[in-house]
Amino acid sequence: MKAIAIFPKTREVKLIDHEEPKITKPTQVKLRTLEVGVCGTDRKITSFQFGTPPAGYEYLVIGHESLGEVVEVGPEVRDIKPGDLAVMVVRHPCPHDYCRACRMGHQDFCFTGDFTECGIKEEHGFMTEFVVAEERHMNLMPRELRDVGVLTEPLTVAEKAIAQVWQIQQRLPWIDPNTSAQMRGKGLKAMVLGAGPIGLLGTMVFVAAGFETYVYSRSKAPNPKADLVEAIGAKYISNETTSVEQLAEQVGNIDLAFEAAGASQIAFDVMRVLGPNAIFVFAGVPDHTVPIKVDTALLIRDHVMKNRAVLGSVNADRADFEAAIRDLGVFKQRWPQVLRSLITGYYPIEQAPQLLLGSAGGIKNVVTL
Ligand SMILES: [Zn+2]
Ligand SMILES: [Zn+2]
Repeated sequence: MKAIAIFPKTREVKLIDHEEPKITKPTQVKLRTLEVGVCGTDRKITSFQFGTPPAGYEYLVIGHESLGEVVEVGPEVRDIKPGDLAVMVVRHPCPHDYCRACRMGHQDFCFTGDFTECGIKEEHGFMTEFVVAEERHMNLMPRELRDVGVLTEPLTVAEKAIAQVWQIQQRLPWIDPNTSAQMRGKGLKAMVLGAGPIGLLGTMVFVAAGFETYVYSRSKAPNPKADLVEAIGAKYISNETTSVEQLAEQVGNIDLAFEAAGASQIAFDVMRVLGPNAIFVFAGVPDHTVPIKVDTALLIRDHVMKNRAVLGSVNADRADFEAAIRDLGVFKQRWPQVLRSLITGYYPIEQAPQLLLGSAGGIKNVVTL
């Protein structure tokens, strides 16, 4: 069957013939892949910055943002049946007994680093016609979300972030006790850094949770992403026309910052102007560039004096996938056009190498099978 693979030794990215997987355990499910989203991680893999083939293979099938349709289930599969739509989790647990996180189903917090990740690290990914996986590594997707289901995995990044924010911010009376569980962000201000797919999906998460939400990004407005931000009900501010000091003056106390662009300079600039008791979440991974100068003493002093928290967050657990699927339903009701327009291009698998190696624009490009 067709698959897109990288060959790290020869530095090739190409369409290959990959052996079709079979169900070998009673708890496994076989899916026909429908769509696979492409993101910055894939580009880092196809430019050989990382990406490791499974043991015994010279190549790695890439793709981790999946949507598939179940075609066959093993005899012990309980809740999934042929015809269902499903999204796969990306990270699988490490084998060590002493890894409490993996043993408790929280491989996103693996202690050892010996986890595998489909399409990224030592396990084949989803940019191929069929995939076999354990039922517990899949999440059911309602039929009515077929057109946007491929956005689930990128959305889990923001879902995991906000789930941790709620947990950590319980350290203080952050949430107004008079707000409903759905609107816990009411009265608080969120600042999203970056207007890529994760930034825009994060913006939806924060607006839906009641935050007064701002997006601080490079391009000058008006531009198509700024229009989407405004359509979601957030405010777009360009860092080309507004400095962080002006930003702070304009916005007031920033209670939550969500870094989704991997832009380290802007991140540290914004950190300087956070409000008291704020929390800053790093979710983007910057390319390693020239080190920048940061006034560390000032930054530390402000973080201490204002009780701020700084957090890094990667990957997602099952609950985050469930939250993402639930929220896609909410977003589809609330912002149907905006949600659809996050997917800016569909490419057949034969064109995937050009898509991965070229400089395709748009927001989220998707490979179809
Ligand atoms: Zn991705
Ligand atoms: Zn582990």
